[in-house]
Amino acid sequence: MNIITTPDPRLRQKCKKVNHVDDEVREMVKNMIQNCLDWEKDHEFEISAALAAPQLGYDRRIIVVREDTDNKENAEFIPLINPEVIKTEGKTIYDYEGCLSVPSIYGKVPRPSKARIKAQTIDGQDVRIKADGFLARTLLHEIDHLNGILFIDHIKGVKDAFYRLNDKGDLEPVDYDKEIANNKQLFPDED
Ligand SMILES: [Zn+2]
Repeated sequence: MNIITTPDPRLRQKCKKVNHVDDEVREMVKNMIQNCLDWEKDHEFEISAALAAPQLGYDRRIIVVREDTDNKENAEFIPLINPEVIKTEGKTIYDYEGCLSVPSIYGKVPRPSKARIKAQTIDGQDVRIKADGFLARTLLHEIDHLNGILFIDHIKGVKDAFYRLNDKGDLEPVDYDKEIANNKQLFPDED
């Protein structure tokens, strides 16, 4: 099983709610975490901060979020079932975002600085998370996935918002008109 990438239409579906955490759901979570770790082995400069179920083709509202995104040695992920944004707050922050389903492209994406999230744990307990900074950004990015939304949608048409990772691990700007505007892999429905 592998992480699916744009323009796979499964990335554009609104995923179904999980009614019970059963063996099937636990297996999905296990595969999601394993795929994050496998992906990372081939991506020297990047860390897999999180993954959403549709990125493996699962039509379910499940995400996994890295416990510590500053430490590649820490392989622990926190699964969240049926995560929902209750409220966003704070000012809009523009920061770099990448996605395992959008290979090699990064974007400077506007997001609110704070988010309140509710979800269930893998044990079926209700949890509420008050997130800010990178965690808020990550959770909003992953919950977007469950609604068929990718980070590139938030910056479509913004000419100076797209970047690419070079072989030294640095982000360099991408020419929007040349490489993004008519890129059917990124925006296949554009006419
Ligand atoms: Zn993503």
